[in-house]
Amino acid sequence: METGEDIKATPKGFYCKLCEIHTPNQWSLDDHVKGKKHQHLCRLRAKRKAQVKNSVFVSGFKPATSSTELSEYFKQFGPVSEVIMDKEKGVYAIVEFSEVDSTQTALAQLEHRMDGLKLRVKPRERKEFKLATKGKHDPKKPQISLERLNYELCQAASVNEQMQKMVESFQLSENDRTARELLVQLLQEVFTEFLPDCQIVPFGSSVNTFGVQSCDLDLILDLEHTKAFQARGKKFEQTEENQSEDTRSEDSILSDVDLATATPAEILELVAAILRKCVPGVHKVQSLSTARLPLVKFNYRELNLEGDITINNRLAVRNTRFLQLCSGLDCRVRPLVYTVRFWAKQKQLAGNPFGGGPLLNNYALTLMVIFYLQNVNPPVLPSVEQLRNMACEEEQCVIDGWDCTFPSQPFTVPPSKNTDDLCTLLFGFFTFYSKFDFPGSVVSLREGRTLPITDFLSRDEEMPDTPQGSEPKQRNTAHPRLGPVNILDPFELHHNVAGNLSERTHRNLHRECCQAEKYCRSLQYRNKSSKGKSWGLVRLFTPRVEGCPRSQDGKEKSLEISIPFRASILPESLRRELGSAGDTFRVLWFSKLCTAVGAVFKDILKCTPPEEPTISQAQTKTGEDEEVNNNESVKQVITHPGVKRPLPAEESPSSSSSPQGKRQRLDPSAEHPEKACWSWAQRHQVWAGRRKVRRDLLKKSDEASKPEGGCSSIESRVTQCIIEKEVDPKDLLEFRVDAVVVGGGESTKAVLKFTPNNDLQGHFQDFFHFLESFLPKMVETLLAKQE
Ligand code: ATP
Ligand code: MG
Repeated sequence: METGEDIKATPKGFYCKLCEIHTPNQWSLDDHVKGKKHQHLCRLRAKRKAQVKNSVFVSGFKPATSSTELSEYFKQFGPVSEVIMDKEKGVYAIVEFSEVDSTQTALAQLEHRMDGLKLRVKPRERKEFKLATKGKHDPKKPQISLERLNYELCQAASVNEQMQKMVESFQLSENDRTARELLVQLLQEVFTEFLPDCQIVPFGSSVNTFGVQSCDLDLILDLEHTKAFQARGKKFEQTEENQSEDTRSEDSILSDVDLATATPAEILELVAAILRKCVPGVHKVQSLSTARLPLVKFNYRELNLEGDITINNRLAVRNTRFLQLCSGLDCRVRPLVYTVRFWAKQKQLAGNPFGGGPLLNNYALTLMVIFYLQNVNPPVLPSVEQLRNMACEEEQCVIDGWDCTFPSQPFTVPPSKNTDDLCTLLFGFFTFYSKFDFPGSVVSLREGRTLPITDFLSRDEEMPDTPQGSEPKQRNTAHPRLGPVNILDPFELHHNVAGNLSERTHRNLHRECCQAEKYCRSLQYRNKSSKGKSWGLVRLFTPRVEGCPRSQDGKEKSLEISIPFRASILPESLRRELGSAGDTFRVLWFSKLCTAVGAVFKDILKCTPPEEPTISQAQTKTGEDEEVNNNESVKQVITHPGVKRPLPAEESPSSSSSPQGKRQRLDPSAEHPEKACWSWAQRHQVWAGRRKVRRDLLKKSDEASKPEGGCSSIESRVTQCIIEKEVDPKDLLEFRVDAVVVGGGESTKAVLKFTPNNDLQGHFQDFFHFLESFLPKMVETLLAKQE
């Protein structure tokens, strides 16, 4: 019995591929090989091999055909021992002969006919023997529990070893890969039956070297050759006698749809119908024709495997090859990607249920790792542009107008000079992204560097797709959808692969990177605990607790409100203005934001200047000149270096009187245009019962559906209503707001720090709590309206 090929020596003993078990030494290996399980599987494998040799794969018969009828027909070639029908659909059968010679005779016959139909008789696929998956393990369930993983990681000698273990624990096993390949073959068989010359090509994590046991099976259905087949068929149709049996039967489904003119939805319906009716073991078929890339989802029962089929999505196949190449370029890429993917899952940053959602997907996350590896010093990976230049002429590839050229073999790319170990690189990853300005920049793997967001703000036209094979599109014609995180696809340069991320995911991503970076600086990260405590990756993988307050470390919650830079909500005119501001775009955006913040306090929440404006105190104290921003929309007064304040209520753009005396114009290069400060008094409980007042006010109006903070006039009326109803208004509280804009080395945002000055009645906390959600929404509404 062959066992030699099944046994693999490993650093820790031996591994039996057939039974999927490890043995620590030769002695236990010998025991295993003589054991029941191994012997049984060897016998079973030999039997299956013989069965395969003795069988033929038959299709093309009528759905009502029985196994007896097939057996009767095939008897003419030799004794038939079994006919296995696809019971569910009745489309295929495997006919097993008692002798191998009968198989050869049946295959040698040029044509087989039954009930007037031409049968297809093929050799049965030589499938790799695999352990039955049914009832043994559910591939959807993680193969390893978190406890087990933690235990195994703690046993490792170093973080480097832990990261290698991540790959070993999660990667697709040979059996998994074979099972997926067999499913692809089955689909290929079936689809070829109906769509001649089509091609089913796997992409994504099943083949990109980053797959885990439970990952989905992403497939494309390439119909380019089928279109050509259909066109040829049409020519033949003109002369009826030219029509072959073959084309006629396949035409039965192809004649329902003209592939050259069919809409994606029509083609998807056809794919869904074939999956539903003709592929054994497939269920839960669902076509999603409105997705960015329309697709059909299905489940393959035997493996409990989720699958997707998209049509002609050749860019995805190509970017999968790119990930494979990156993985082959440096052996540190895989452990790093597996570790980061698992970390992101634990922290609820990645893994959108059912594909859609506001989190990162694994593709975007992998691109983040690659981008980081392009940016370490010295780089571990070259930029896509550099790779393009290393490719030879035969490797040139343009898909949908996008240049997708890169070398096909990793060995043609010079190895990296970077010698950092995995532990250091992982630490570096978190450091890199904890200081990364996601909203203010655009990640470009093609150039291997970040691009300023201003390069993308003033673009308004998406370039139409140029015909395949024509000149590659240029970056500066691209128009990605900007969001809190902007990661350009390496090939489809107008596509932001993280365009689905919400502001909240971005905040969480940043916070988790900061926390991970902090942890990686500790000895607990680098050094194995001698006392058996958790260390290294184990602590890094602690699941995120939902709803944790900002002050996780027990520090008092600070009175700060951050308003992120969100290019996507800004009106086109402002985007253009910011786009042409270059490096000063943050200051310009901040000045607009300050105007909006001032308007929220003054016009919407009806705050007034404090009784004794600190502004005058500041003037007498410092004796410094005041300055006013020369931008019409911003009227802020500098009271001392670095602190500017908006004019009190009477001096808003709509008012004419000015009690502030001497002012100077502030140009954008003024000393501290990145800071501002206001002092306000709030005399009414404008937050108390606000929702109810709002509801009552809008009961019968069309505006009832507008969200809180979504309309300035409504909110201002709500405030007015509260004020009018208040019986005994008092001076409630006075507070100061210090604002600053940050970015570049961190996310671009405005941070507003609140300080209560006079809060005798203890209302400030409630007011601040209300502002936390109201102020950012209201400011964004005002910014969105700016012209
Ligand atoms: P997993 O299935 O384990 O989550 P994956 O690597 O297969 O990981 P998917 O999100 O399933 O990732 O994506 C599969 C493929 O689809 C990717 O390899 C990529 O080719 C393409 N893809 C996914 N998301 C995007 C995206 N946002 N933009 C462009 N292509 C994408
Ligand atoms: Mg996938």
